[in-house]
Order: sequence, then structure tokens, then C-alpha cells
Amino acid sequence: MHVLETSIEYLKGVGPQRAEVLKKELQIFTFGDLLNYFPFRYVDRTQLVKVNDITDDDSYVQLRGTLGSMRLAGDPSRKRLVATLEDDTGYVELVWFKGVRWIKDALKTGKEYIVFGRPQFFRGKFSIPHPDIQLADDPKLSVAGKLEAVYSTTEKLTLRGLDSKGIGRLLRTLIERLDPHDLDENLPPGILARHKLMQREEAMFAIHIPESQQDADRAVRRFKFEELFLLQLGILRLKHGRESVKGFPFPELGEYFNTYFKVHLPFDLTSAQKRVLKEIRKDLLAGKQMNRLLQGDVGSGKTVVALMAMLMACDNGFQACLMAPTEILAQQHFRNLREPLSKLGLQTALFTGSIKGATRTTLLKALKSGVAHIAIGTHALIEEQVEFRNLGLVVIDEQHRFGVAQRAELWKKSDHPPHVLVMTATPIPRTLAMTVYGDLDVSVIDELPPGRKPIRTEHRFESARLKVFNFLKQEIRKGRQVYIVYPLIHESEKLDLKNLMEGYEAISRDFAGDEFRIGVLHGQMKSEDKDFEMQRFASGKSNILVSTMVVEVGMDVSNATVMVIENAERFGLSQLHQLRGRVGRGADQSYCILMTGDKLGDYARQRIRAMCDTNDGFRIAELDLELRGPGDIEGTRQSGGLELRIANLVTDQKIVAETREAAQSLLSEDPDLRHPKNFRLRQHLQDKRKEAIAWSRIS
Ligand code: ADP
Ligand code: MG
Repeated sequence: MHVLETSIEYLKGVGPQRAEVLKKELQIFTFGDLLNYFPFRYVDRTQLVKVNDITDDDSYVQLRGTLGSMRLAGDPSRKRLVATLEDDTGYVELVWFKGVRWIKDALKTGKEYIVFGRPQFFRGKFSIPHPDIQLADDPKLSVAGKLEAVYSTTEKLTLRGLDSKGIGRLLRTLIERLDPHDLDENLPPGILARHKLMQREEAMFAIHIPESQQDADRAVRRFKFEELFLLQLGILRLKHGRESVKGFPFPELGEYFNTYFKVHLPFDLTSAQKRVLKEIRKDLLAGKQMNRLLQGDVGSGKTVVALMAMLMACDNGFQACLMAPTEILAQQHFRNLREPLSKLGLQTALFTGSIKGATRTTLLKALKSGVAHIAIGTHALIEEQVEFRNLGLVVIDEQHRFGVAQRAELWKKSDHPPHVLVMTATPIPRTLAMTVYGDLDVSVIDELPPGRKPIRTEHRFESARLKVFNFLKQEIRKGRQVYIVYPLIHESEKLDLKNLMEGYEAISRDFAGDEFRIGVLHGQMKSEDKDFEMQRFASGKSNILVSTMVVEVGMDVSNATVMVIENAERFGLSQLHQLRGRVGRGADQSYCILMTGDKLGDYARQRIRAMCDTNDGFRIAELDLELRGPGDIEGTRQSGGLELRIANLVTDQKIVAETREAAQSLLSEDPDLRHPKNFRLRQHLQDKRKEAIAWSRIS
């Protein structure tokens, strides 16, 4: 057994009890796991300052001085320990509120100490609460004089002495007992040289016990590179491997497609839609399995592309299905598509979770026997009991709500993998496109249907509400419809509902009179009721729709021209953009009104400004990426089986691009990683494959 596979309990300083907690809390089972538990930042312990150089800027300082007096202060039940530390420029107070007795016994007045902490200015002098303190000539391994690695930890671990420092101590113990050959290099020498990467062994040392910030930075870069490079290799190999997977060939463009195109299509396709259809057609002809991501801004007309792709499947005797992320959206698709499909002689089935009993049984039969040609539904479509006669194409709309695992279920629905078309209106930052979707081919609809007027977006404060409402009344009197959307603010759905219902009541009071017909829509309604309200709005029977985020994606009512977003500061930028996309779908001028309170944080202000400045979804996505901190973009944290240990898809975009290229060039030289210098890479991918087999083929 390799030493790195040794169970963590055998490391000096661990033992069975701590091992238990390490496993539970941090999934550290072995020496190797511990070694790969990287710090998330460093504290500079290289600088010493003098007492009279301490400033009031709330930063950490390191001092060296003699411990002067010690005394206990405060009332007997809550004593604190106050000691003084003196250097040749003055003294500070060190204060402890916990562990008082123990600390008092451990410290010795008159000795020299190195102290690290964050001084507070209080009653005219500085004191340092709970400083880190150690003897200046402590012979034990020490971080003073170095950069100190900081590890994230948990309360349970801290209780067992494994705070950040405790973990650091374990790592130093472990690193001391390792031999150089325990840490083999896994990247080929050419890559190391070309990308100026630290050797693995050196980097492992430097990431945990760096000599300098520079040292730490290089080590971190090395491991980020390693992680992303291996990921890219896996993705690209998967993509290449898939290119040999057989898919159902759809050679015919037949009756269904042609009739729809010539007779029923209510408008001319945009040239972007035509181009994308050609790309899809090419995939479907090729005899390979299609795995394509279709990106197109809100309102760019993805649905008709999906419909026509499904007709290609039907023309070749296959079934197709269209999955939407919510029941409301599935119903909307069903309503819009059933009629044109039935004119072609095709049967469409709506299948969602709320369809029960006899109807459900009938539907299941229809799908299995092939009586239903096209199924439209939610993730209920991928439930175990749903069987198709011959499912040839799966279209997934507004993909970001579907997990990779859910998509993988679809794979099992037929003996051969069906073709997969994933559609998303969320413009995907390039780094995500290269990683989470790095194995899919990408098509883009980069053009809106003609005749759309750009939506006008305005920011209004609460104080202008009356004016805003008057404006809404004007629009409604012109025959238009209005959305008013409330955010999900609270942890509890009940409170959100309350918020929404209060808004609804206020609106009902303000919009009294027969000309205003108000509907309300929220996540907790029964699906029949939702459907009823949706239909009422879609058919123009109601003209104000008060709702929560359920209208976020996909709703399509072209007569709606105003989108009012309440508490707009609570929404993320891409959510705001999605919501805005619900209007501006017809030829009339549309408006998006962002309502906020008077006080706005910087970040909220920037988002609102971005919305008022641009309608361009890709620009919005870029701004979103800039504005949000690391790890916040949808899909980066929980990105479907993609768990990154150290790299971050948002902040490490450059390394993502670099590793993508490096992996591509390596694979072009050695596609099957047969060369001995690539042996370790090949081995790594094989290990990974075992873990990922369940979903790897579908994306
Ligand atoms: P999204 O890409 O956001 O899903 P939809 O498919 O819902 O967009 O299309 C938005 C609206 O634009 C729909 O009302 C649709 O009928 C219409 N539309 C789509 N393509 C065209 C086109 N080429 N010309 C005119 N209108 C179109
Ligand atoms: Mg859509």
C-alpha cells in the first residue's frame, strides 16, 4: 500500500477519535486526503512591528516583546486575564476571556514572546484580544517568521483541538515524515516547463509551509493548473470518445418538417435560427449521437428550433420529448405546441408530476406504445416508470435547473442514447462553457426576431410608486398587460407568500375598477390553479399578474409590455435579465421598472445601473461575472458532479483557458495517452472514469 493511502488515524497526533471527526467533517480518510486539504489563505508572519507603530486600521500585527505583569480582572464569575507585552517603544495589553486559568499558568512573566493578533483601540490604548502567543525562542516547529497557512475548519473539529493551527500542525507532522518519492510528479515534463509550474513535491511543501507569499502563490497556481488540466483532459477525452458513440441517424427531412415549414410556421425564421437548425440537422444525419448546447438570449426564439428538431425525429419514426424546469413552463409549451402538432397529425402528451391516476396510466401507455409522438413535461418524464417506445431526441429547455444526474437518467430511456439538445437563455461565461459544458457542441442564436423594440429599463424608488402605478394604468388602458414580480426574500416560503399577498392586496386597492383584472401566481398554489391563472393571463382575461419568481423563465405573453420588479435590489443580475425578458416579445414598446428602497448598497446599485444601461444578455453575463465574487455564479459551486478542490471557475478563468489549450495540444499529439510520459495522466483518467461512469456519457 502506498503511504498516502494510510488511514489518517495512524498519523501522530490524530488517533481514532480525531480521525472520526476528520472523516465526518472534512472527508479526510487518509494521509493523502490530508495532504490535499489545501489552505484557503495565508497570514503574513514574516513582519515584526514595534508597539508604537501599531495603527488603528484593524489589521493583524506581529510583535516581539517581554511579558510584563499579568492580572485577573472583571467580576469573579467572568474573569479575564490581562497581561502586558513590552518592547523598546511601549507596551500593549493582551487580553483573554476564555481559558484564563490555563493560559495564566502557561505564560511566564519576564520571558520574551512573539505575539500575533488584531489590536483594538479602547480607552486610549491598544489591546489584543486572544492573541496567538509563543516563546520567541521556541524550538518546536513554528510558524512565526513565516507565512502561516489558514485552513477552514468546523466547530466539531475545533472542539477536538483541530482549529486551523491544529490542522497546520498535523500537516507539518505529515510532511516531515514523507519521502520525496511519495509525491510523484503527475504532469509530463514538457507541460511543467512550458507553463512554468512548480514540481509537485516542492509545491506540496510550499502550499502548506510557504517561505514567502510568492512561494505560496506559485504552489497554489501549480495545483490549480493540475486540477483544471486533469479536468480538461477528462472532458476532451469524453468528447472525443462520444464522437464514436453511435446515434440514431435521421436521414429524412420528411412530411412533418416540410409541411410545418411551408404551411404552419407563422413567421420567417431569423438567419440565426436557420443556421442553428442546419447545425442540428448535420448532427442528426451523421449517425453520431448529438450533444448540443443551444444558447440564445431570452426571446431569441429557441422554442421553434426545438419544435422543428422534434419534427426531424418524428419524420424518421422516432419519438421526441421536451423537458421544462417547471410545471407552468411545461404547460405553456404544451398549450403552444399541441395545436400545430395535431394539425400535422402528431399526438402530444403532457406529462408532469401532478398528473395522477387513470390519466397517468393512459399517458404511460401512450408513451410506451408510441401512440404519443411527442412528450412535453417536467422532470417527471425521467421517472423510473416512464418508458418510451423509441425515444430519439430529448430537448431540455432552460437547462440550468436540471442537474447532470437528472439528465443522465434520460440516457437510460432507450437502448441507444437519444440525441440531446440542451437549451439555455442564461448566457454562459466562457469558463463555464469550457468546463461544465465543455463536452457539448455549442450553437448560438445571436439575433432577435425582427421588429422588436429595445425594452426601456428604469429605476424607481419607493417614493415614486404612485407615478409608477399611474403609468401602469395608462398602459393597461391601451390594452396591454403587466407583470408585478416579488422576490423570494425569506428563508421560509410562508413569509414570502405573506409578502406577496400583502403586495397583492395593496395592488387590488390601488387598481380598483372593472378595467383592472388581477391574477396571482406563486409556487405554493395547486397546479390546476396555477394553470388557470396562467391561462387567464395568457388569454388576456387578466391584465395584471402578481407573482413570485415562477414567471422567471420562459413565459411568453407577447401582449405584456410592462415588467415591474419589486425589491429589485434582492435579485441577481441574470435573474433580473431573465425577468425582463418576459416583456418586449411583441411589436409594442415595452418597459421594465426596477423598484427599490431608498438605501442601496454599492453592489445593488451597480446591478441596477447595468440593467438600465444594456439589454444585451451576454454583456449582462460578463458584468455578472465581474460583479459577483468568486464561487457565486450559478453552476460554479454546484456544477453537476464537478467539485473543484482549489481552482475557481470565476477567478481562475485564465488558467481554465490555459489548461484547455494545453490539454488539446497534448491530446492532438497523443490522443490515447499511450506515450510513457503520459502514463500517469492515463492512469488518473481511468480512476476518474470509475467514479463518473454513471453520468459521464450524457453530459
Ligand atoms: P426563447 O428563446 O426565450 O425561448 P421563444 O421561443 O419563447 O423565445 O420566442 C419568443 C417569441 O418570439 C415567441 O412569441 C415566438 O413565437 C417569437 N418568435 C420566435 N421566432 C421568431 C421569428 N423568427 N420571427 C418572429 N417571431 C418569432
Ligand atoms: Mg424559452
